Amino acid sequence: MNYEHFQPKNYTQNNKTISTQKNIFLVNMNKEEEWNYSELLQKWIRKTLTTKWKNWNQGKVAIIVNKKWYSSGVICKSCGEIPQCKNCSVSISYHKLESGEKIGLCHICKSQYNLPTHCKSCNGDVVQEYGQGIQQVAERCEQNFKTKTAIIETKTANSPKKIEKIKTAINECPIVVATSLLNTPIQNIPFDLVVFLDADIGLNIPDYNANKHNFHFLYDTFVNHSTKNFIVQTRNPYQESIRYACKLDYQGFIAFDNEFKKQHNYPPFADLAIIMYKDEIEQKLFNKVDTLYKELLYLKEKYQMKDLEIYSTPPLIYKIFGKYRYNIILKGQKTRDFMDIVYSKLNLQKKGFKIDRMAESIV
Ligand SMILES: [Zn+2]
Ligand SMILES: [Zn+2]
Repeated sequence: MNYEHFQPKNYTQNNKTISTQKNIFLVNMNKEEEWNYSELLQKWIRKTLTTKWKNWNQGKVAIIVNKKWYSSGVICKSCGEIPQCKNCSVSISYHKLESGEKIGLCHICKSQYNLPTHCKSCNGDVVQEYGQGIQQVAERCEQNFKTKTAIIETKTANSPKKIEKIKTAINECPIVVATSLLNTPIQNIPFDLVVFLDADIGLNIPDYNANKHNFHFLYDTFVNHSTKNFIVQTRNPYQESIRYACKLDYQGFIAFDNEFKKQHNYPPFADLAIIMYKDEIEQKLFNKVDTLYKELLYLKEKYQMKDLEIYSTPPLIYKIFGKYRYNIILKGQKTRDFMDIVYSKLNLQKKGFKIDRMAESIV
């Protein structure tokens, strides 16, 4: 069997124990043949769509895909090149217009690009889209399950008027494809089945709060929806944030997460400050950051802040709107005291550094 079946009987909320009846199926996608749709998922969708249910003509399925637009980018099959935005170090995502035409779009600076027909690097002509976004999932569902779909994302649900319109669409469509907006249920629209197409997506971010965000992405949806049946697809079936969520074990997760943060000296067990610098000229950026880094090490030595960690690292997205960025991260019990010294000795703001004294993320 490629899946585990969790049937948590209760969960806690505001120190109260609430009994529940949920069927949560955790599918190990490493053992599946189809990249995005497990056998179990296909079976359930077909079954749900043919079951008559209450006032609806058909059963309703919600598929949560936390990726906007059509695809994450394109990749060259010969050399592996992934085209990036000229202003930002992110891949160009693709968006499908109502006309059916696809355009490339940077999700940061919104620059537009054409869908390439060949690779700029090796001139190879096999460039393929990768990473299924919400539009592509909806399209595939329509093809595979011969049914209409509705899409819920910020663009289609950012005003009461649009929400009313979506509700009408949902009434007519057995399958709803949504971003994490659907963590919060839509009033009076229950689903027979809620699906997470890829429960690992939040774990790809190298941040100390990634586990916490991923846990809530799943757990909040399980708890907030009156739906009984959930399918969670993952390539990391033993990852703690996913397992604790499937067991509806909030306390267990908190204990695990605290232990991790304690061991690695992250807040709330230590303080984290981030000093960032950005510049259009990469060499100037390196020089500035390097000079400051040496000054900080000197102050650390001088004031004997032995257990303070200081290191420099690029953020998750190195270049944004044409500017390169670099972080200096300070972590430890006495970060705040040290930052007071830094403020009094080095005129950071005047030198163009941006300071986050109580950073909640390292990306
Ligand atoms: Zn190539
Ligand atoms: Zn851009």
